[in-house]
Amino acid sequence: MPVNRKNIYFFGAGKAEGSAAMRNQLGGKGAGLHEMTRLGVPVPPGFTITTDVCTYYYVHDHRYPKGLAANLLAAVSRMEKILGRRFGVAENPLLVSVRSGARESMPGMMDTILNLGLNDQTVQGLIVRTQDARFAFDSYRRFIQMYAGVVLGIKSKSKDAHDPFETILEQKKKSRGVQFDTELNGDDLQALVAAFKSEVKAASGNEFPQDVYEQLWGAIGAVFNSWNNDRAVAYRDLYHIPHHWGTAVNVQAMVFGNLGENCATGVAFTRNPSNGEKDFYGEFLVNAQGEDVVAGTRTPKPIAHLKTAMPRPYAALRKVAGLLEKHYKDMQDLEFTIENDKLWMLQTRTGKRTGFAAVRIAVDMVDERIIDKKQALLRIEPDHLNQLLRPIFDNKDKEQAAQEGRIVAVGLPAGPGAAAGRIVFHAEDALEWKQNGERVVLCRTETSPDDIRGMEAAQGILTARGGMTSHAALVARQMGKVCVAGCEALNIDYAARTMRVGETNFKQGDWISIDGSTGEVISGEIRTLPSEVLQVLVSGSSDGKKSLMYQHYAKLMKWADAARKLGVRTNTDQPDQARIAKAFGAEGIGLCRTEHMFFQADRIQAVREMILADDEVGRRRALAKLLPMQREDFKGIFEIMGDLPVTIRTLDPPLHEFLPSRNEEIAELAEVMKVPVATLRNKVKVLQEFNPMLGHRGCRLGISYPEITEMQSRAIFEAACELRKAGKNPFPEVMIPLVGSREELKMQREIVEHVAKETMKAWGNKVRYLVGTMIELPRACLVADEIAREAQFFSFGTNDLTQTCLGLSRDDAGKFLPTYVLNGLLAEDPFVSIDREGVGSLMRVAVAKGRKVDKKLEMGICGEHGGDPRSVRFCHEIGLDYVSCSPYRVPIAKLAAAQAALNKS
Ligand code: PEP
Ligand code: MG
Repeated sequence: MPVNRKNIYFFGAGKAEGSAAMRNQLGGKGAGLHEMTRLGVPVPPGFTITTDVCTYYYVHDHRYPKGLAANLLAAVSRMEKILGRRFGVAENPLLVSVRSGARESMPGMMDTILNLGLNDQTVQGLIVRTQDARFAFDSYRRFIQMYAGVVLGIKSKSKDAHDPFETILEQKKKSRGVQFDTELNGDDLQALVAAFKSEVKAASGNEFPQDVYEQLWGAIGAVFNSWNNDRAVAYRDLYHIPHHWGTAVNVQAMVFGNLGENCATGVAFTRNPSNGEKDFYGEFLVNAQGEDVVAGTRTPKPIAHLKTAMPRPYAALRKVAGLLEKHYKDMQDLEFTIENDKLWMLQTRTGKRTGFAAVRIAVDMVDERIIDKKQALLRIEPDHLNQLLRPIFDNKDKEQAAQEGRIVAVGLPAGPGAAAGRIVFHAEDALEWKQNGERVVLCRTETSPDDIRGMEAAQGILTARGGMTSHAALVARQMGKVCVAGCEALNIDYAARTMRVGETNFKQGDWISIDGSTGEVISGEIRTLPSEVLQVLVSGSSDGKKSLMYQHYAKLMKWADAARKLGVRTNTDQPDQARIAKAFGAEGIGLCRTEHMFFQADRIQAVREMILADDEVGRRRALAKLLPMQREDFKGIFEIMGDLPVTIRTLDPPLHEFLPSRNEEIAELAEVMKVPVATLRNKVKVLQEFNPMLGHRGCRLGISYPEITEMQSRAIFEAACELRKAGKNPFPEVMIPLVGSREELKMQREIVEHVAKETMKAWGNKVRYLVGTMIELPRACLVADEIAREAQFFSFGTNDLTQTCLGLSRDDAGKFLPTYVLNGLLAEDPFVSIDREGVGSLMRVAVAKGRKVDKKLEMGICGEHGGDPRSVRFCHEIGLDYVSCSPYRVPIAKLAAAQAALNKS
C-alpha cells in the first residue's frame, strides 16, 4: 500500500478528511459521505477504510496493514465524542453500520451489516435510550441474522432451502398465531434473540460474539471478502470494472428510520432517472429500515407524500437535494433516513439513467446554465442515443414478464430496440405472414444473404449463432432492425417448425419478444412504443415542435455537429434507408454494397445466368439484363442524396453465394433455368472454395471478368448523367474492393474511367466523380503509398482488415472469441471495436503512406467499426476525414465524433 497515505479517513460534525476528489481511495459512497459532510449536509459521523487497505488485504493473505487497528480505535473514539455515546458500553451505546463502497457503484453485489455494536448489555442501553424494548430486540435479532449470514456464513445452503433464521421466525409467528413480524411483541422478540443465538452456537460451535470490536473486525473482513464473491466478480466482468480496484468500507453511526411514526427511510433522485424530467423523484417508507425499501416487503410511497406526512424533514431534503445537484452539477441519487423528524443523508451519487433521461438532463442543464455544451456532449454515452431512435418496450409489461419468469434466454444485443411478433423460422414465411398483416420475429440458427427480404419483413431477428458482425447483426443494424444474435440457448427444428429455449418450447406462430438493447428473449408479447424522434424526422407523423424528446435530440445533434471534425456518412444500398440516414444528417454514403442489389428477386436470375455463362458473350448478355435495374437503383439513391458523395463498391462477394448449395435447391433452380441438373451441380462444385473469404472475390472478380466492372460503371454513370441532365449534381465515388496492389487498382480504374468518359460523352455532360479503393488487406496498408498513386480516396474496410490482420475468420470467430474476451486474452471483440495495436497500426501506416503521396487524399472507414464510439475516436485520432456507419448509428457516430474532438482539445 502506498506509503504516506492514510488508511482511515474520518468524517463528522461538519468536517471531513476526505472529499469527492478521493473517489479512488474512498470509493463512491465514501467520497460522497465526506463531500456531503464538508458541505454541511447532515451526515451521521463515521469513517472510511480505504480501497488501498482492501488491496493490501488481498495481497497479504487477508491481513491488515500495520497501524490500522490503532487508527480504527482512534476513529471510533472520535465518533463517540461527537455523539456522546460509547461503543460496547451499555449506557447510551454507539451502534454502527458497516457498508461496502467501490469506485464504481456495484449495487447489491457486496455485503452490508446494520445495528453492529449490539450485544446482551448494549441492547439494554438501547431500550433505555429509545424507551422501546420491542424496537431494541427487533434490532438485535436483525443484527444477529445479518451478521450470522454475512460474517459467519450461516444461511440457507441452496436457493431452494430455507434460511435457518427465517424458519425460526416463522415458527415463532405460528406458535403465537400471528401473520406478520410486526405483530410480535417485545417478549417474543427477546425470545427470538435467544433462539437466534442458540442457532449460531449450534451451526458454528461458537457463541455469538459479544465483543463489539470482534463484531466490527468480522464485519470489515466480510465486506472485503465480498469484493470477490461470485456475483461481484460476475458484475465486474460484465461492466469492465477492474478486479484489482478493491472496495472501501464505510463505518458510520446508525440512525434509525424505524423508531416510530415520525421516522422514515427512502431513496430520491434530483430528477427523474427514467425520462429526465426535472421533478423530485423517489420513494419512502414510514417507520422502516433501509433494507425494507429494497426488499419489497412493503410498497413504498411516492416521495411527494412525504411533504404532507413530514413537512419539516421534507423541506430539508429538498434543500439538500438542490444543493447536492448544484454542487455535483449532475443528477444525484440520494439515500436518506428520518429519525424522530430529523433528516440524515446516507448517500449521494451520480444517478444512473436511461438514454432518454441522459439526453434530457444534459440539454436541460445547459439551458439552466449548470453545465456548458461541451460538458453536455461529453456526458452522454453515444450508444444511449439508440434508445431515442428505437421502438421501446413498455417497461411495466416487461417487468411483469420478468416476474413471471418469461425471460427465457439472453443472447448478444446485436440490433438495439424492442420487437414483438409471432415466431417464423423461414424468410419466405416472414414475407408471407407480413403480407397477411402479421408481425413476426424471424428465428434462425443463422441468416444468409438469401434471407434479406424475410429479415426486412420481420419486426426482429433472433439467431442462435454468429457474433456482433455476423450477417444477421450487420444487416439488422443497417436496416435498423431489432436483433438478438448468437443466442446459444436456441434449438431450432426447421422441419417441425419448433424451437426449444431451455425448458420452454415454442412453435411457429407463438408470440415472442426480443430486446435488442439487452439481448433478452421473452416469451409472449410485450407492448412496444414507437420512437418520437423517428416520427418527427422520418415518417413526419409527429410535429417536432410538439415533441420535447425530439427537441432535446435536435439540440444535442446541433451541438455535436458544431464540435466534430469527422464527417459522418452511412452504409446503405437502398433508397429508403438512404432517406432515413439523410434525415439523421448523414453527409453522404460511405458504402453501397452492390451485391445486396443483386440478391433482389427480380435480379438474382440474371446474376445466376451470368455465373452460369460459359463465355464472355454469355456473361455480357446476362449483365445487359442487370444494367437497367442497377441504373434505376443508383438513380434512386443519387436522387435522395442530392449533391452528397455516394460511394459505390463494385461487386465483392465470391460468386458461389449467389447459387444454392443443397441438392433439392440445385434441382429446382436447374429446372427454372432450363439447364441440366448436372451442369448446375458442376458449376456449384467449380465455384466451391476452401477459404472463400480469401478466394475469388473483391477486385479479383472484376479482374477475371472485367465486363462486370464495366456494367456496374455504366449503370453508375448513366444514372449520374441522366440526373445531371435534369439539373441535379450527383457525386459518385466508385470504390474497388479487396485491393492488394497498385496494379489491381490501376486495371479496374481504367475500366471505370473509360466507361465514365464514354458515358459522359454520349450524354454530352460531365459529372463529378472519384475512383478509389477499399483498404482492407494488410498488404494494401503496407504499400498504401503505391496504391495512393492510383487512388482518389481510401476507405478502410476494417471488417476484412481485422479478419486478415488477426487471421481470424469473422464468420467462425463466434465459436471461440467470447472465451478470449472472457479470459482477458483480448480486451474486447476486435470486430466490434478496432484492435488499436494491430489493425490500428496498419491503419496508421496506410494513412501516413497515403498522405505522403497525396496530402489531401480523402480517407474514411466503412467497416462496422465506423459506428462504434471508441473506434470513431480512433479514426479521429489518426486523422480520417469521415466514418461511415449504418443509418441508425449516424447520430451515435456524430456524438462520438464530437466527443473525440472535444476530448482532444
Ligand atoms: C469491410 O471489410 O470492412 C467492409 C466494409 O466490407 P464487407 O463487410 O462488405 O466485407
Ligand atoms: Mg470487406
